[in-house]
Order: sequence, then structure tokens, then C-alpha cells
Amino acid sequence: MVSSQDIERAVAVLRAGGLVAFPTETVYGLGADAANVEAVKKVFAVKRRPTHHPLIVHVADAVQVANWARDIPPPAQELARRFWPGPLTIILRRAPRVHDVVTGGQDTVALRVPSHPVAQALLRAFGGGVAAPSANRFGRVSATTAEHVRKEFGGEIELVLDGGESDVGLESTIVDLTGARPALLRPGWITASQLERALGRPLALPGADAARAPGTLPSHYAPQTPLVVIEGDLLGELAAAFVRQGRRVAVLALSASQPVLQGITWITAPRDAAGYAHALYANLRGLDEAACDAILVERPPAAPEWAAINDRLNRAATNAESDQP
Ligand code: AMP
Ligand code: MG
Repeated sequence: MVSSQDIERAVAVLRAGGLVAFPTETVYGLGADAANVEAVKKVFAVKRRPTHHPLIVHVADAVQVANWARDIPPPAQELARRFWPGPLTIILRRAPRVHDVVTGGQDTVALRVPSHPVAQALLRAFGGGVAAPSANRFGRVSATTAEHVRKEFGGEIELVLDGGESDVGLESTIVDLTGARPALLRPGWITASQLERALGRPLALPGADAARAPGTLPSHYAPQTPLVVIEGDLLGELAAAFVRQGRRVAVLALSASQPVLQGITWITAPRDAAGYAHALYANLRGLDEAACDAILVERPPAAPEWAAINDRLNRAATNAESDQP
């Protein structure tokens, strides 16, 4: 899907200060040369992202972390050894060379070594750090295919590398190692208990220190259509009530069975957390495109492997009006 010529082109675009969308195992990223202030500014402009929301710097391997961070504590090495390359972002104190535009002016920097072969090839060929948020308009559902990226941005991005569907389908787990205690800033496919086992100590969980997690807004990852998360045993009934009122409804079900009624767009999601996460954003986009009056989502289990999924669904369900910068 991606040739070595494509990688060469992508590197040339990055070196010239342009933007490249690229696949990672979590979601697609919208990348710029992290050392080029003007290039990074373009990311914010294209995404329409507020400038105080910092970006994650992607590097090819853990050795490069020393170029971007200082005072790296031993637990960072342990997490890197255990989870990189992979869907984990680590917050560290920034090295002096890291520009404010990347960190939102903070003294910390977010770093990740992605495992997707195309991301790896790009980062190795480029050699430097690539600052990249998810390749979607601010606040919207992340893109897990190249086609979703193109639909979202049209011709505004010079190059989109097509590496197929993102495996994980949810944004990376973010852990902050700059405080007195390691803190989980964003749940992801790597769970809190996996991190606690690797660190040998408990984590502070999200919400304990919300000020440290800029960009983790109550409303995020949201489709255009209003979305509600409801219990499975109420789903069929509520969908039917909508239809009887002459409204169109789209449903993301898990175990509930579809009522025999016209006018419902119905998707039954995979029952395992990995399959559910992998398909989630494509499912939400599909339901959004049905242009209904509401999207009803059956509430997934509360088990730990569903934590990141529940986190994203709760943010998708929150109205944009309640956005707290
Ligand atoms: P995304 O917008 O999905 O690419 O995710 C990037 C997220 O990483 C931001 O919204 C922040 O929540 C988080 N992040 C990046 N840099 C930092 C930082 N220095 N400190 C805390 N969180 C950060
Ligand atoms: Mg994002």
C-alpha cells in the first residue's frame, strides 16, 4: 500500500515544512516536523485546534527520547522497554530545544514510539520527531482509515499515507511521569492495571489532577449527530419510540436485538473489546452519515478492558456547548 517512494515523498514534504497524514496503530496522525515552528502551526490551523492543546511528538525509538526530554526518570525507561513501540504516550519534562508551539507552552512534552510499520518507516527515514495529533477536525471523531482522513480534510493536506485500518482504533494511553506520582491522563488500549504492574506502584487516575491534562475535554471524539449512551435493555424500546414520533434514529448495539421496524439504521458492534475499539470510529462515522436525529449507543460493560471505550463514548455523548478549554 505504501511504497518506499511514498515514504521518500513524505519525508520531502516534512522537510519542506508541509503536513503528512500517516497511519499509526492507534488512529491516523496529522504530522509535521516537530522542530519546525511554522510547520507545527499549520497543524493547528488545518485541524482548527486551539493552540494550548499540546501535540504528541512521535519518534522512531526510545533512544531518541533524550533529544526531546530531560531528567528522564527510571520508570520512563521501564515503560518504554515494556510498551514501545506501541500505543502508549509518556509525558516527560521537555528538553530546552522543544518549541512552545508543540507543548502548548508547558514545561512538559508528550512522546510516543508508534509500532505501525508505515509510521516506523516514516520516522526512521525522516530521522527527527514528528509532532502529530489525530488527523481529524478538532473535537471530532478520530480517523482510522486514509479515506476518513481525506474526507475530513479534502485537499488541505499535501500527502496522506494509506496504511490500511488502524489496528487499535482508539487514541494512545497517556501517562504523566512528571509529577510526584505517575498519573493516567487518558485511558487507552494499554490499561491502568498493565501500567501499574510495569511501574510497581498505583497510578493517579484521570480527574485527580485535571489541570495537567490539557486537551482532555468533556466533549471530544464527537459525531455531528447528538449521541446518547443507554442500557441495552432500553435500547430497542427507545429506538422504537423515536420512530413512532417520526424521527430517524441510528443505533450502535452490542447485545440488544433489532426491533422489526423501518427507519432505524442499526449496526451491531463486535462483542469483544478489541474488535469493538477497532471498529468504533468507523461505526460512529457510518451512523453519523445516516444523518439521523440521534445516535443511540448501547452501554458497553464496565470491565477494565472497556475503560477507554467508555471514556470515548462518554465524551462523544457530551454536548459541545459544555467544552471547557
Ligand atoms: P490528540 O489530540 O488525540 O493527538 O492527543 C494529544 C493529546 O496529548 C492532547 O490533547 C493532550 O491531552 C495530550 N498531551 C500532549 N502533550 C501533553 C503534555 N505536555 N502534557 C499533558 N498532556 C499532553
Ligand atoms: Mg485528537
